[in-house]
Amino acid sequence: MNDLLLHACCGPCATVAVPAWRERGIEPVAWFHNPNIQPAAELERRTESMRRFRRAAGLELVLEPQAGDTASWDRWALRQRSAAPDERCAACLGLRLGAAAAAAARLGVRRFGTTLTVSPYQRHDLIERAGAAAADEHGVTFVSLDLRDSFRQSYGESRRLGLYRQPYCGCAASKWEAWHQRAARKRAG
Ligand code: SF4
Repeated sequence: MNDLLLHACCGPCATVAVPAWRERGIEPVAWFHNPNIQPAAELERRTESMRRFRRAAGLELVLEPQAGDTASWDRWALRQRSAAPDERCAACLGLRLGAAAAAAARLGVRRFGTTLTVSPYQRHDLIERAGAAAADEHGVTFVSLDLRDSFRQSYGESRRLGLYRQPYCGCAASKWEAWHQRAARKRAG
């Protein structure tokens, strides 16, 4: 019986997170549920990248419908426009990891984790806090590996497997921020 539900944020991060758990003798079930990703065409690209990695890795993958708790996501989307990034990201991580913990409890899997810990651009303290709160709420255990050292390796693996690699975190605000950062770097030469 698989005993780890691994929330998968994207195929590229999964390329290093899945082997890291396998090296520890744990075969994860990947669970893809990221309604934060905007626009819909971007979500479809990342979903396809996840499917491609599933085939390459022989991984069990659950593609959870992305609608989720519509009222919560609507509130979160509204907050994106005015909230400071910390508040916005804490809410986003709380919604996704909350849904992952609920799915683990529903499926009878006692532990859950996330591939988000691969990215050095994510706030790891917020991930840990959201994971622990979700675990408490749903009676499961949150487990995490700090895989930031493998981030560069995920570039190579993504290229090798032909996976789409996204240029921004996911929400509309992060797309806007990434665009501005790239423009500022160009201006600075
Ligand atoms: S930047 Fe990323 S983690 Fe933060 S709110 Fe947007 S999608 Fe969520």
